[in-house]
Amino acid sequence: MNNQSIALGDFELTVVSDGTYVGDGGAFFGIIPKTMWQRKTVPDDLNRITVSCNSVVVRTGKQTILIETGIGNKLSEKTKGFFLPQEKLLESLSAAKVKPEEIDIVINSHLHFDHCGWNTVYKDGKAVATFPNAKYYAPKGEWEHGKLQTERDRVSYISDNYDPLINSGQMQLIEGSAEIAPGISVEIWPGHTRNMWAVFIRSGGKTACYISDLIPTTWHLEVAWAMAYDLFPLEVLENRKRYYARAIPEQWLTIFTHDPDVPWAYIERPDNKLTFRMP
Ligand SMILES: [Zn+2]
Repeated sequence: MNNQSIALGDFELTVVSDGTYVGDGGAFFGIIPKTMWQRKTVPDDLNRITVSCNSVVVRTGKQTILIETGIGNKLSEKTKGFFLPQEKLLESLSAAKVKPEEIDIVINSHLHFDHCGWNTVYKDGKAVATFPNAKYYAPKGEWEHGKLQTERDRVSYISDNYDPLINSGQMQLIEGSAEIAPGISVEIWPGHTRNMWAVFIRSGGKTACYISDLIPTTWHLEVAWAMAYDLFPLEVLENRKRYYARAIPEQWLTIFTHDPDVPWAYIERPDNKLTFRMP
């Protein structure tokens, strides 16, 4: 997918992708039968579907902000064999004419490895900041949960993606909601994890929302179509309803973190059926 840009008030938003990876179709669609989800996306012989890792660059005129950093290039060879990541974020940034040193702020919606992988790269065997001049932000509760290394989801949390930045003071962990920069704010929207953030971008009376894994693709618009990865599927359902109650009438541009074809769209509900319109 090529970079796409759109104006939002005084801001410019550009989708930059880390490329695609593959994951088990069943894991992405939870309790939904394959007979239904395969109408949305066709799995391969190993029942894998192809998804994307969509990041967004926001140019506010004063600052350059990167929301989410994809899978990165630090996975072990064995793990790469499972996910087949393309590791393209730096190429996509370059195509968007953004140099790593120009990024002022990096925001991670949560700390699963497919959302914060390019936070760091290995240099002489040590994980160092990919964006040397950026201040990084992540939800404090995410980091605390990752540190627990629970049996259920410890594979999702790779500490080299964030601990070196926290230790050096370059990453700040935030509890609850916050305004990170003028027009850029974060709010906890639970369901996928307890503390995942939605990132709101507001300028000139317009709103865009990086809703992250609460609604990972346009295939997941139906409120009950939660992923098997989601820790609190009932909260996914309730929070999608709460999201639509504002995002639809107020015409928020919704950014889809894992959709390989539709990085952003306006969600609509004609005749009570959830659908979307690309800008
Ligand atoms: Zn996640």
